[in-house]
Amino acid sequence: MNDEGLPVVVSGIRATGKLHLGNYFGAIRNFFPLQEKHQCFFFVADYHTLTTHPDPDVLRQNRLPIVKTFLATGIDPNRSVVYYQSSLPEVAELTLLLGMVVQLGELERCTTFKEKVRENPDNVNHGLLTYPVLMASDILIHRATIVPVGSDQIPHVEMARAFAHRFNHLYENIFAIPKTLENEAVRLPGLDGSKMGKSHNNGIDLLDDATTIREKVKSGLTDTNRIHRNDPGDPLNNCGSIYPLHNLLCTDQEIIAIMQGCKAGTLSCVECKQMAAEKVVALLAPIQEKYYSYNDDYVRDVLVECAKRAKVSARPTLHQVRQAMGLD
Ligand code: AMP
Repeated sequence: MNDEGLPVVVSGIRATGKLHLGNYFGAIRNFFPLQEKHQCFFFVADYHTLTTHPDPDVLRQNRLPIVKTFLATGIDPNRSVVYYQSSLPEVAELTLLLGMVVQLGELERCTTFKEKVRENPDNVNHGLLTYPVLMASDILIHRATIVPVGSDQIPHVEMARAFAHRFNHLYENIFAIPKTLENEAVRLPGLDGSKMGKSHNNGIDLLDDATTIREKVKSGLTDTNRIHRNDPGDPLNNCGSIYPLHNLLCTDQEIIAIMQGCKAGTLSCVECKQMAAEKVVALLAPIQEKYYSYNDDYVRDVLVECAKRAKVSARPTLHQVRQAMGLD
């Protein structure tokens, strides 16, 4: 809870590339409705970005567009705090201190760390190993209890919970115990059927124009067992990318009709893709219109103001942690 008795929400997005529909459905879509009854902190995880993307141009290109997207999807900077992680270096100090209660073995066993090592064996840096400690600090520094993230981030939120419990037990009861947003964890596949990711070249970007969206959706993986137009399909188990998209875009009635049409072979994959593409175009058009209406200077002013508010929230926690650990 913050000083006004509102539950606190924290979520961040790495600036590793252009935002895509996976980011939207896994995280951003949940942000806007939360601001009504929560104190929300939404940030660009630029420190985290450097664990896998050391090129400074990556950050220069991608940070501001993420903030603009936050605003374009309805995040109100007068209510919610929108900031760059690196403008709150207090999280770096908290990471150092929290790291004292974290065992090397638990970081090495973390499945996301092992995945990153497999993906990029030439750059297994310290930041990659301590990624979950930095993420825990992002959350705990604001005493957040709710973390809206996609399902890939659940292990990290679990680790944040464990670190918070351990610190509270060893020192003082300072941290709130966070959890992911109930029942909302989503994993959207990309057009090739593997997880949609910024660096995987398999996504529909939030700023793709209508023609690009239609082209991309047309290339999406469907049920490979459906060779002929009227072959019956198995959307739930075999459709690589289009049914999961419909599942997030359609009403219950629409999804039942798609499921029945696919199973009966009366709805072809081509028609199904056309329907999905039009849904995506309609979803993104108003977001893109707002996005392009923002002036960069306005967005930078928002960031300066919000960084001050992020510090007001973070500093008392860090101060208490320092005291509890004997650094008074
Ligand atoms: P990242 O781009 O890895 O920093 O992720 C930012 C947020 O988007 C996190 O909450 C992720 O869990 C979420 N996310 C990223 N990719 C996907 C996806 N394909 N499906 C669902 N959520 C995702």
